[in-house]
Amino acid sequence: MLVDAHCHLTGSHLADGQVERTLDRARAEGVAGFIAVGTDLEDSRAVLDLARRIPSVRASLGVHPHEAKTWSQDTEPALAALAADPAVRFVGETGLDWHYDLSPRDEQEAVFRAQIRLAKALGKPLMIHTRSAPEATLGILEEEGADAVRGVIHCFSENRAFAARALDLGFYLSFSGIATFRKAEAVRDVAAWAPADRILVETDAPFLAPVPYRGKSNEPAYVRFTAEAVAALRGISTQKLADLTTRNLEALCGWAPSS
Ligand SMILES: [Zn+2]
Ligand SMILES: [Zn+2]
Repeated sequence: MLVDAHCHLTGSHLADGQVERTLDRARAEGVAGFIAVGTDLEDSRAVLDLARRIPSVRASLGVHPHEAKTWSQDTEPALAALAADPAVRFVGETGLDWHYDLSPRDEQEAVFRAQIRLAKALGKPLMIHTRSAPEATLGILEEEGADAVRGVIHCFSENRAFAARALDLGFYLSFSGIATFRKAEAVRDVAAWAPADRILVETDAPFLAPVPYRGKSNEPAYVRFTAEAVAALRGISTQKLADLTTRNLEALCGWAPSS
């Protein structure tokens, strides 16, 4: 039994009944649980609706760094009210994205800090997105005391030095399709080396499909390929990797899908 620790199930790529079919295809591949992630306030409402409707889907609600520019005075109380729902297991995705810079960096930082405080107020772990801002991301997590709630470094794409500091804060490392890319040496190194009780697997669907679907639209069924790659790197069976990543998610957020 596998859990997809980070996927997007509310975008326009999944209109009109597509979600159920997508989840059925995933279940046929042994994927029993899904953390569906919101990227702004409106999307977070849609994700929560989905999680309330489908017991194998739990929610991560937040404002993505790309959307930091949409944050207003009203966003925080609205997000806090939604995120208090027991179907919500994480706050995020939140963090810094200095690769695309789709929101000003100072706004990304302020919105990131606000969501760490919200996670601490709610006692829920964080779902962290970080790209091209490793020092700033770790610095903010350390300054804001994010170790009090811990969380997931989603779509892990950094190196051992970053991983070590994230692990020191109690964070988990979630590996995506990047772990199946032969040239992603630093990520594959961390996937082989990271402690067994701190690793997760995810798709980040519809983005970043693993080999053999690289470049195509991604979906939760494909988390199997990432699990196979990470298991091979660690020299364990895919079954064992599935068991331990499912247990790890439960240890972090208190939820596991019923089989
Ligand atoms: Zn992300
Ligand atoms: Zn995402």
